[in-house]
Amino acid sequence: MVTKKYGVPILFFIGFELVAVGLWLTQKNIFYLFNFSYIGTAISLGLLLYQRNYRHARRIVQLLVGLYMLLYLGVLCGENMQIEGFWYYLFTGVFEAATIHYAVAKIAGPLLFGRGWCGYACWTAMILDFLPYKVPAGPRKNIGFIRYITFFASLFFVVALFLFQVQEKEYILFYSFLAGNLLYYMVGIALAFAYKDNRAFCKYICPITLFLKPMSYFSLLRIHYDKEKCISCGKCRQVCPMDVDMMDNSRGRKNGTECILCMDCVKACPKQALK
Ligand code: SF4
Ligand code: SF4
Ligand code: SF4
Repeated sequence: MVTKKYGVPILFFIGFELVAVGLWLTQKNIFYLFNFSYIGTAISLGLLLYQRNYRHARRIVQLLVGLYMLLYLGVLCGENMQIEGFWYYLFTGVFEAATIHYAVAKIAGPLLFGRGWCGYACWTAMILDFLPYKVPAGPRKNIGFIRYITFFASLFFVVALFLFQVQEKEYILFYSFLAGNLLYYMVGIALAFAYKDNRAFCKYICPITLFLKPMSYFSLLRIHYDKEKCISCGKCRQVCPMDVDMMDNSRGRKNGTECILCMDCVKACPKQALK
């Protein structure tokens, strides 16, 4: 039966449609219907392709959602979708794309789908994942504190705009979105090559992880390990881009809040011990 076979993509599609229609009607803005229907369709398509064993399924979703957010919402619509945009719209009390985006994808959403945003939608990682170091070549570096600096720098930047009553804030926010993204790409690519790790930016620099990590600790959706089936071949750990100890089912598993649900470990396991 089609609904049984494709239950997960259908469920995701329905979930996004409920958000789309709910926000459209409550906010009286048809943009939300278009926005969440598009994202829901892209994610459902990716899940469908994944179920059909298409190896680039995740990358297709990443490109469909990431490019839409970066180019359409960010560049064409002029909405700052970076963290400073979130602070700005939050302080002005405007419930717009950036605030909704953060609330859905980065604060409430991770309770349900963990760091799925990082695996399937982020426009920064969308580029970084094209680089050659899919799995980190060396051990973790001790520089994770940098993300606190970038987090508070973004907050102070926006607070300063209000404190000093800077004019044309929207204009500044738009250009800071362009400059910020360029900087993220430059730093992300440089770090990836320096540490031979595509996801070094995610591990050490990204300010959004201050929201994502604590929320995804409680994620409903997570990788489950079946010890009975495992033959200890170690293939799962060899392919993980985020150094997660997926062979530990506890919430406190090593780097558990960094799992981007890429499913590479699941695909690599010869015994279907992970799901
Ligand atoms: S950690 Fe940051 S840069 Fe990396 S995928 Fe997540 S949101 Fe994007
Ligand atoms: S390989 Fe597995 S544990 Fe590692 S990030 Fe991907 S889904 Fe998570
Ligand atoms: S790949 Fe599968 S069988 Fe091998 S160690 Fe991991 S869980 Fe066990």
